[in-house]
Amino acid sequence: MQLIDNYQRRFKYLRLSITEVCNFQCQYCLPNGYAIPKDGAQRHFLTLNEIEQIIACFADLGITKIRLTGGEPTLRRDFLDILSLIYADSRIKVRALTTNGFRLLNHVADWQRAGLTAINISVDSLSSDTFKLITGQDRLREILAGIDKALTAGLQTVKVNTVLLKGVNNHLTDYLQWIKYRPIELRFIELMETGMTGDLFNRLHISGQCLEQQLLAEGWQRQAKDEVAGAASVYAHSDYQGKIGLIMPYSKDFCQTCNRLRISATGKIHFCLFGENGIDLRDLLQSPTQRDALKSRILSGLTTKPEHHLLQQHQTGLANTLSYLGG
Ligand code: SAM
Ligand code: SF4
Repeated sequence: MQLIDNYQRRFKYLRLSITEVCNFQCQYCLPNGYAIPKDGAQRHFLTLNEIEQIIACFADLGITKIRLTGGEPTLRRDFLDILSLIYADSRIKVRALTTNGFRLLNHVADWQRAGLTAINISVDSLSSDTFKLITGQDRLREILAGIDKALTAGLQTVKVNTVLLKGVNNHLTDYLQWIKYRPIELRFIELMETGMTGDLFNRLHISGQCLEQQLLAEGWQRQAKDEVAGAASVYAHSDYQGKIGLIMPYSKDFCQTCNRLRISATGKIHFCLFGENGIDLRDLLQSPTQRDALKSRILSGLTTKPEHHLLQQHQTGLANTLSYLGG
């Protein structure tokens, strides 16, 4: 049994959201911070047992890379236990995390010992003031120190995510200086429209093509991709230890190479970040005896995966904020 959709795309990469809660207030994601949903209902996020069932089932289905995301995944008290569960399944070769980095400095060594192999840290500006304006947090210095610590912690990859914001961070000079002697892949992600941030999108969205042209003009060269690589086109230059990645979801054919599935923190599988509905898996996550039924539900859901998103037509689907599914 393999995860292949109607368009012959093969899936080896699972993004698993383990919480919707976050302590930052990024303007494009949670501008007012995390709030308990309006209906007041307590949100119950995936338990360790449910996460264990997900790992085993998806490993059976050929998944070799799992990324923990959120919300802010490192806010979970059992975060190390979750990492250890993934590490315990030798079929999962890449164990990755996307984080805002606020716990990095003090904890990255523990995470690496618990099996983490790859980390993406979100840093939207190298200026403390701008960073604070975007995220609501005055923590740039400690996060940058945490990144330097991560570089020496024995991880296989350290990447930085920067959401490209017009007039805010679309000039490369500081970033290029920063990655000159650091083996970091710095990925610029085009701002994506969500239900919550339509107006901000209109003001701040800029295509990654402007950076691409600049990079090519300055001698950067596009690299080939491997099978479980992310969505970025990656550029390298012999004068720099770091690399630059561009993630351009609005570019033509972006979805053709889609290789990831997503599970929300409440146990729904989503076949597109900007799709309408997830399929609830939770009732089948309670025991290993449900594994076959779980696989059947996932495989039949996969036949509904759309060929591409409709972001160009401003159809953002369910994505009110990416903190729900983890980007
Ligand atoms: N809290 C963690 C973090 O910020 O890294 C993980 C969750 S966050 C939702 C995952 C990634 O999605 C981050 O790199 C963030 O910058 C990105 N993101 C959130 N909203 C976005 C948007 N509207 N457009 C593009 N990227 C977005
Ligand atoms: Fe939190 Fe990440 Fe969203 Fe920022 S991008 S508000 S850190 S979930």
